[in-house]
Amino acid sequence: MEIPRHVIFGPNAVEKIPDILKAISSRKKNKILVLSGTTITNHIVEEKILPVLDNSRIAVVRYMISEKPITYKTILNLLSVIRENKINLVLGVGGGRIIDAGKLSASLSSINFISIPTNPSNDGIASPAVSYLLRQEMKKAKRKYSLHAPIAVIADTKIISQAPPIAIASGCGDMLAKFVAIRDWQLAYRLKGEDYSEYAASMALMSAKLVLEKVSIIKQGFEEGIRVLVKALIGSGVSMSIAGSSRPASGSEHLFSHALDLLSQKYGFKPAYHGLQTGLGAIMMMWLHGGDWEKIRDALKIVGAATNAYELGIEPKYIIEALTLAHKIRPERYTILGHRGLTRSAAERMAKETGVI
Ligand code: ZN
Repeated sequence: MEIPRHVIFGPNAVEKIPDILKAISSRKKNKILVLSGTTITNHIVEEKILPVLDNSRIAVVRYMISEKPITYKTILNLLSVIRENKINLVLGVGGGRIIDAGKLSASLSSINFISIPTNPSNDGIASPAVSYLLRQEMKKAKRKYSLHAPIAVIADTKIISQAPPIAIASGCGDMLAKFVAIRDWQLAYRLKGEDYSEYAASMALMSAKLVLEKVSIIKQGFEEGIRVLVKALIGSGVSMSIAGSSRPASGSEHLFSHALDLLSQKYGFKPAYHGLQTGLGAIMMMWLHGGDWEKIRDALKIVGAATNAYELGIEPKYIIEALTLAHKIRPERYTILGHRGLTRSAAERMAKETGVI
C-alpha cells in the first residue's frame, strides 16, 4: 500500500512547501522541477510558489507544459529535463493534465512527486493513476511503467477556491461516480470472485457520501465547500492506493467516459471534463443497476454539472455509441455492462428514460 505521506490542507498551504521538502528528502540540496501550464497555473507559480522556494534558497528548474492533451512526447521531454538537470523531485502545479505529467515522469524517473492541485476537477490529486488517454499514449508507445502515488499533496484551498465553477462541478461528478463504481466492484466480487477490499470500498463510499450531503455548500465555491470536495477527492485517491487498483473509483460510468474520450479522437469533437462525463455516466449506470439514479442526477443538477447530452456539449449519437462501446474499453474490468455490453436500442432507451438524450 502506497499512500501520500504528507497532506497539507488549508489556505496558504503552499507556504509549507519548504517544510515538506525537508521532511521527505534526506538530501541537503534538492533540485526540483516545477511544472505548470502556460497561463493561470504559470501565474500561480510565479506569484505564490517561486517566492516561497526562493526564500528557502531551493534550486528550481521551471517547465511549462503547453500540449493539450499530454502526449508521449511531452513525457519524453520531461524525462530528459529531469535527467539532464539531475532533478530529484517533481512538483506539479495545476489541474489533471499537469498532475498526470508530473506523476508519470517522476514515477518513470524513480523520484518523488508532490501534487499541488489548483482545481478540484478530478481525483488524480492523490491517486496512483493517470488519465485514460495518457494510458493509451503509453500503451501505443509500448512503454511499461508503474505509477506511484504523490509523496505529498499540498492543497491550498485559497488557490483551489479560485477554480472555475465547471471544474468544481466536475470534481463532484467524479465523486458521485463512486456510488456506481462500488456497485460494479461488488458485482465483480460476487460474480467473478474478484478481490474486494471492504476498507477501500468504504473509504470511497464515505467520500462520495460526504460530497452528496454537501453539494449545496460546495456549489457556492467558498472555502468551506471546497475543503469538503478536496478531502473527498484525496480520500478517493487513497482508496485506490489501498485497493492497489482504480477499482473503488472507476466502474462502468468511467468506461463510458473513456469511450467518449476515444470517440472524441476518432471523430474530432471536444471531450468534456472527465468528471462531467463520469457524472453523466453515473446517472445511466445507476439506472442499469436499479439504484437511485435520480438522487445522483439531482445532486449533479444542484452543483451545475451536466445531466444531459446537451449540457455536456456532446451530440446524442456519440453518447449512444459510447454506451455500446463501453464494455470493450477494459474487458478485464467486469461491470454491470457484462461481457456483451448494451445493444443500441437498449442504450437509447436508457438514455431517454434517464433524460440524458
Ligand atoms: Zn475519475
